[in-house]
Amino acid sequence: MNWEAVIGLEVHVQLNTRSKIFSGSSTAVGAEPNSQASLLDLGMPGTLPVLNREAVNKAVRLGLAIDARISRRCVFERKNYFYPDLPKGYQTSQLAEPIILGGEISLNLEDGSEKTVRLHHAHLEEDAGKSLHEDFHGMTGIDLNRAGTPLIEVVSEPDMHSAAEAVAFARKLHAIVTSLDICDGDMSQGSMRFDVNVSIRPRGEQTLGTRTETKNLNSFRFMEMAIHREIERQIEVVEGGGEVVQETRLFNGETGQARTMRIKEEADDYRYFPCPDLLPVVIEEADIEALRTDMPELPDARRERFAQQYGLSDYDAGLLSGERATAAYFEAVVAECGDAKQAANWINGELAARLNAGEIGIKDSPVNSASLARIIERVADGTISSKIAKQVFEACWQGEGSPDEVIESRGLKQMSDSGELERIVDQVIADNPDQVAGYRAADEKKQKKMFGFFVGQVMKQTGGKANPREVNRLLGEKLDG
Ligand code: ADP
Ligand code: MG
Repeated sequence: MNWEAVIGLEVHVQLNTRSKIFSGSSTAVGAEPNSQASLLDLGMPGTLPVLNREAVNKAVRLGLAIDARISRRCVFERKNYFYPDLPKGYQTSQLAEPIILGGEISLNLEDGSEKTVRLHHAHLEEDAGKSLHEDFHGMTGIDLNRAGTPLIEVVSEPDMHSAAEAVAFARKLHAIVTSLDICDGDMSQGSMRFDVNVSIRPRGEQTLGTRTETKNLNSFRFMEMAIHREIERQIEVVEGGGEVVQETRLFNGETGQARTMRIKEEADDYRYFPCPDLLPVVIEEADIEALRTDMPELPDARRERFAQQYGLSDYDAGLLSGERATAAYFEAVVAECGDAKQAANWINGELAARLNAGEIGIKDSPVNSASLARIIERVADGTISSKIAKQVFEACWQGEGSPDEVIESRGLKQMSDSGELERIVDQVIADNPDQVAGYRAADEKKQKKMFGFFVGQVMKQTGGKANPREVNRLLGEKLDG
């Protein structure tokens, strides 16, 4: 049987307002537990919420970026449930009248194709606190610093059909919210969390199959793994004669395994009702227009600009334009060294590999934009070869100093002085009489192939520091002459 996977995402995006959505407490992470929880966040009776205007503005900016309808009127509702990290007994959220309706996000897939994913809606809500299970001797600690942090939950239509598409969607949304500066994008801190809904159906079938929901994935890699596994699992269940049960699942990134968290026997009943403490939010057209005129450059526009302004390939432009921090780094390198192509090669090659391996964000790169620009300049001005440049990069990465310091202290300056280089070339020719004879007897085509041997020998003798252009010139002269 040929199966088609169907995937829809629900994404919690933490908005980077300074204070909480309904109280004046700070949203900063890392403080002493419960030091940033006001009486309201603690659920004390008699406290009243006051809506943070910035949270609304940031939601509107997202709506504008994804071409959605921005509700001129939206309503906060209480989603009632009990949990220790939710002292009020309800989460203030939106259901019937969310702030954003519809919208779409276009994906650039790895095979070069494009795809549009429709959004169902996005709503504002507050985050819950955290239950801490370690360090409390069999008891659970409750930290309410996160309680009341503003979230926007983005709900997609079930428009994706593979893990790769879902990850491309997640990455694009990450790029959009960080470009808009409405979220810090730090997934390791839970600033973006993904719930993935997955079902399968025979290819060609129109009706949707029964779905499962895997909750709270906080990295692209885990998301990809979880979706792959879940599609496989469902196919196995169905092909084994069973039925997929609608359930909520939890994925463990360390083991790569998911397990059932709870089975949905019937629809959850949260007894939503409009929050009597909060007035409906009315957003004026003028406010929307003011925010529209103040929109920063978005990933798609930046991609186009990068391709045009810097003459980059579509592929390079795509990689460099997605994340605001990467784009800024790239533009800083180009501003310094003037070579966009080299900047792109380095950032998408060496630097990306190192950052990925160390799971480091580009903002925290040990090699900053000025240093990378300097390395590129030193290749261009002939101080070092491009091969040695990798060594310089590595040393800078390890904290050995600036590129110029590394070149100096490690003695990596390229040998262009033809006096010394000429001696080495002569030596290589003297040491390899058979190869020289063979070369001189060969036809031009064969000679071209054999030439590399001599270049290699010279490079070996000079520890890779010989200026390749000089080596070619000298060898050419001596072998042919
Ligand atoms: P709920 O009200 O239970 O949260 P929704 O209808 O709002 O369910 O859907 C939640 C998410 O699940 C959406 O992203 C939606 O696209 C996705 N989804 C719904 N049905 C399916 C399905 N059969 N297969 C895959 N994804 C689905
Ligand atoms: Mg839902």
